Amino acid sequence: MTNALETLITEHRAISRLSGLGLACAPEAPAPAAPPMLVIRGLGSHYGRIPALRDVNLVVGRRQLIALVGANGAGKTTLLRTISGVQKASSGRIEFDGQDITPLRADKRVRLGICHAPEGRRVFGPLSVEDNLHLGAYCRSDKAAIAGDLERMYAMFPVLEQKARLPAGTLSGGQQQMLAIARALMGRPRLLLLDEPSMGLAPMLVEEIFSAVTELRKQEITILLVEQNAHAALAIADRAYVIETGEIVLSGSGKELLDNERVREAYLGI
Ligand code: ATP
Repeated sequence: MTNALETLITEHRAISRLSGLGLACAPEAPAPAAPPMLVIRGLGSHYGRIPALRDVNLVVGRRQLIALVGANGAGKTTLLRTISGVQKASSGRIEFDGQDITPLRADKRVRLGICHAPEGRRVFGPLSVEDNLHLGAYCRSDKAAIAGDLERMYAMFPVLEQKARLPAGTLSGGQQQMLAIARALMGRPRLLLLDEPSMGLAPMLVEEIFSAVTELRKQEITILLVEQNAHAALAIADRAYVIETGEIVLSGSGKELLDNERVREAYLGI
């Protein structure tokens, strides 16, 4: 080895050591990559003594749309509830933006930017549509920005503006679903957990909901989407995971899973 090369290697090692201590300022050193938005490691959750999630590992990158597909009772809703903090983890760890949030209460997670649009159109029936939307922004105090977001929601879902003063309970199922999504968006989520947004809807409304989700994707919101409508979800997902009896059994790009034999048979009816 030449002296010059030895010197170069020695210098490189010295810089590496300093980098490890956070002391180096070599101009060519690349900036550390931001951690993924959500990293789930070895997550378990139980109902009483019955396990609903076992050793779940899952990563949601920034500005990605990740789909989670699986049959009835596979554990999809439980996983979203465990991420949002309304269901307790019995093992494992959930990291959001590099921070371990496993011990945090649900309201603290909302403040960090994790918003959950639960399945079953859980809107507040006696309250007006507009009050429901305001409730979605309860963590915020930026009044002007909230008013702007309300207008954006009305532009995205015009029917909500037409019915703004009516009790949310008088809306149709599809409209309540739109309200549940819009309410979650009013929290300006950094990570949106969307549970079965197309459940029980007529095909035309399913299309409308999926085009709204695609629109969110263009706005670079990070989304974890749970769907039984596997075809539609895989078609728009960057990556997807398949869950069976509480365990992740497959993962890949949306396209890879659409082409996967097992997925085609079990979830696409092909
Ligand atoms: P679906 O598509 O039907 O909503 P899912 O994939 O979301 O199904 P989960 O609702 O997470 O599945 O249910 C996972 C497992 O946990 C199922 O076996 C279910 O019966 C059970 N489970 C869900 N909620 C409860 C509960 N509150 N108490 C006891 N067991 C529950």
